[in-house]
Amino acid sequence: MRPTRPAERDLNATATATKKGAPNVALASTQTLTSERVRERMVERLRSNGVTDPRVLNAMSVVPRHMFVDPGLAAQAYEDAALPIGHHQTISKPSVVARMIELVATGRALNKVLEIGTGCGYQAAVLSQVATEVYSIERVRPLSERAKLNLRPLRVPNIRLHYGDGRLGLTAAAPFDAIVIACAGLDVPQALLDQLAVGGKLVAPVGSQAAQSQVLTLVTRVSATQWREEQLDRVFFVPLKSGVI
Ligand code: SAH
Repeated sequence: MRPTRPAERDLNATATATKKGAPNVALASTQTLTSERVRERMVERLRSNGVTDPRVLNAMSVVPRHMFVDPGLAAQAYEDAALPIGHHQTISKPSVVARMIELVATGRALNKVLEIGTGCGYQAAVLSQVATEVYSIERVRPLSERAKLNLRPLRVPNIRLHYGDGRLGLTAAAPFDAIVIACAGLDVPQALLDQLAVGGKLVAPVGSQAAQSQVLTLVTRVSATQWREEQLDRVFFVPLKSGVI
């Protein structure tokens, strides 16, 4: 039977396949090829800025970031910048996405991963190339819906999107080998620390947006009752908020 959707790009097939006519993707195939070259340059920049994990570099090179932003911003999609995605939120910078995933992934295989703050779905797509199963929670319903639409043409089978308050985590799917928080809280919610597997790692921006004092924090669960915390880079994220809208 013919698929009801037009030919689409499959993240699990070849990286060079082209797609046409997906509702949110107004790019012709020639532009897709151009974006692949631009994306390769982005990956080269990540490499020269110290990202070394080949799984992360590969993931960054196969996920088409331009498909996660408004068509009007697609030309800027491979610059190292956060871009608006509506609802006062942003898509994270490629360098920060790569850095966070490398911090939780290096030296270990990732089975189950939880992301807090799906936004437009970009980081979830990158994580899907590095982990076996990705769960991602978003508190703004239209963004969660948007992420679903953005991901659909990529046919990523191992991402599960949830609409809800990520501060509570996802008890039903816990424990997680890694948790990546894409929004800044004044601390890391205890529910998320509890849902980390022993040996698992959580990365989160911690601090206040108003005071511009956020620090990327890496937490390792060393035992059932102990977590080790390292404070790393200065970063700037949108806030982690309670409840859903
Ligand atoms: N992961 C995205 C980044 C989106 S920005 C990317 O790939 O670029 C961070 C997102 O976190 C926003 O969409 C915001 O609505 C969401 N967010 C903030 N607090 C949240 C919470 N408690 N639970 C779930 N999502 C939350």
